[in-house]
Amino acid sequence: MRRRVCILGATGSIGTSTLGVIARHPERFEVFALTAQQRVDLLFEQCLAWRPRFAVLPTDAAAAGLRGRLRDAGVATEVLSGAGALCELAAHPEVDTVMAAIVGAAGLAPCLAAARAGKRLLLANKEALVLGGAFFVEAVRAGGAQLLPIDSEHSAIFQCLPEDPRVWRERIDHIVLTASGGPFRTRDPETLADVTPDQACAHPNWVMGRKISVDSATMMNKALEVIEARWLFDLAPEQIKVVIHPQSIVHSMVVCRDCSVLAQLGTPDMSVPIAYGLAFPERVESGAAALDFMNLAPLTFEAADERIFPGLALAWQALRGPDGSSAVLNAANEVAVAAFLAGTIRFDEIHTVNMRTIEAVLPASGATASLEGILGLDAQARRRAAAFVDALAR
Ligand code: NAD
Ligand code: MG
Repeated sequence: MRRRVCILGATGSIGTSTLGVIARHPERFEVFALTAQQRVDLLFEQCLAWRPRFAVLPTDAAAAGLRGRLRDAGVATEVLSGAGALCELAAHPEVDTVMAAIVGAAGLAPCLAAARAGKRLLLANKEALVLGGAFFVEAVRAGGAQLLPIDSEHSAIFQCLPEDPRVWRERIDHIVLTASGGPFRTRDPETLADVTPDQACAHPNWVMGRKISVDSATMMNKALEVIEARWLFDLAPEQIKVVIHPQSIVHSMVVCRDCSVLAQLGTPDMSVPIAYGLAFPERVESGAAALDFMNLAPLTFEAADERIFPGLALAWQALRGPDGSSAVLNAANEVAVAAFLAGTIRFDEIHTVNMRTIEAVLPASGATASLEGILGLDAQARRRAAAFVDALAR
């Protein structure tokens, strides 16, 4: 039986790479649903190529436009609209696998729907887990879903621990997430105020969406990944460490109690973790290039400079803070990055907004016990962060 796949965020970097892997294995996978927020032309092309049962766009007007074009092209894809349709398809009885490749908190509700419906959930959308925390993990457990990480670092750790990673807790001393250090690793911290969005998005090793590219430049991506790892592998905050590894060949490491270190290596290509998640526990061709050990640059490791990456420490601050602090940090960072990309605040002010927001918004107890509570906290933190952005922009 072919696995039926729903791709949330099909037009993005992870979404298109997912279709690239699926294209290599038509006998294994079937595209059931494709969703997008923007880039309607690309979604149209994808529908022509894949003939999914469903497609989703954010508004009725956008959906009507795509419906007309598909009808004229003789494609029978049913076009739905709105966030409710994302949840409906993520939980659709005919779907086996959901690729969560939406960026940001908008992915939380559909991820929860997939978790509750017991799907195989391929999680690229780390923000959903950072926001949802324990509540998300409990939904996965209660729904009998299979949560497989797509983030390359977390896939690496998962691959080093082929049994259920959560039973490994006792055997692990700590994990080490590798970070490339992004485009500004060697920059004079005094000059960071002047960098432009395009410079921040020019990642040396990976081609990604703009939000995660900015997060890589600030290392807030690694901060979110520390929180993601805490929930995926049920680790204490002090069991998660970060090292800069500019070549992005070692994707992360597990340090066992006996000091044995397990690592996963490969060329920096998201097709590898995507193929692993799609075919798990089997291994299928991903389309990535193999590592060429005879011509590899030396692999180096170094500490993150706190003056360049002040945001990294916010991960542990949030994890040690009251429940919901990670949700506040994520919301602040989404607002701050959007403001930076829009030219409203400077690059170094992203950290100012994040720090001020996490200090100003103290989650009420019980705020993270329901989806409504979490989304309410997210909205509250966004309002506060937006006020800090306004103050800085003046
Ligand atoms: P992207 O910006 O390239 O694509 C995002 C996709 O989500 C697009 O299809 C877009 O239309 C859709 N989308 C955006 N906002 C939406 C909303 N409000 N509602 C519904 N759909 C929406 O992003 P990406 O680089 O593919 O990243 C996707 C996720 O994967 C992020 O959470 C990112 O952190 C994570 N991730 C990406 C990479 C990578 O290499 N790109 C690596 C690891 C993890
Ligand atoms: Mg990553």
